[in-house]
Amino acid sequence: MFKKISQFLNSLMLKEILIGMSITGRYLFKPKITIQYPEEKTPLSPRFRGLHALRRYESGEERCIGCKLCEAVCPAYAITIETDERDDGTRRTTRYDIDLTKCIFCGFCEEACPVDAIVETNIFEYFGDKRGDLYFTKEMLLAVGDRYETDIAANRAADAPYR
Ligand code: SF4
Ligand code: SF4
Repeated sequence: MFKKISQFLNSLMLKEILIGMSITGRYLFKPKITIQYPEEKTPLSPRFRGLHALRRYESGEERCIGCKLCEAVCPAYAITIETDERDDGTRRTTRYDIDLTKCIFCGFCEEACPVDAIVETNIFEYFGDKRGDLYFTKEMLLAVGDRYETDIAANRAADAPYR
C-alpha cells in the first residue's frame, strides 16, 4: 500500500523527468565527446582490422610465398589461392582473392602469415555498390599494400612489442 502511494506521489512530481533533466544538466558544460564524422575521426588502434592488403618487400618483390596458411585458417572460406613455380624456382601465387562479403575480419589470416604478407589496414571507408565490388583480387590487394605501405609498416612497428 505504502509503495503504491509512494509511486503515485513520484509520478505526480514527475520524479523520473527531474532525474533525467539533472543528468542532462550535469553533462551540459562538460567537454563534448561527440565528433563530427567524417571531418573528425576517433583514433584507431594499430591492431585495427580493416581492409586487407598484400605487402611487398622494399625491393618490390611480393612477400607472399604462397604457403596457403591464411587460406587454411580462414574460418569464412573467404580466401582463394592458386600457386605456381616461377622460372627462378620460387613459389608465388597466381591467384589470391579475398571475398570481403564473406570475411568476418577476424584477423586470423594476418596472424597465420609467416612473412607479414597479408595484413589488415586501418582503412574502413570503402564500399561496393554492385555485386562483385568487394571481391578483391591479388592485383587489388597489392595496390592497397603499395598505396598504404608507410601506414602499414608504422602500425606493425607500433604493435611489434606485443606480438
Ligand atoms: S580476416 Fe578472418 S575471415 Fe577475413 S579473410 Fe582473414 S581469416 Fe578470413
Ligand atoms: S599471405 Fe602469407 S599465409 Fe597467405 S599464402 Fe601468402 S605467405 Fe602464406
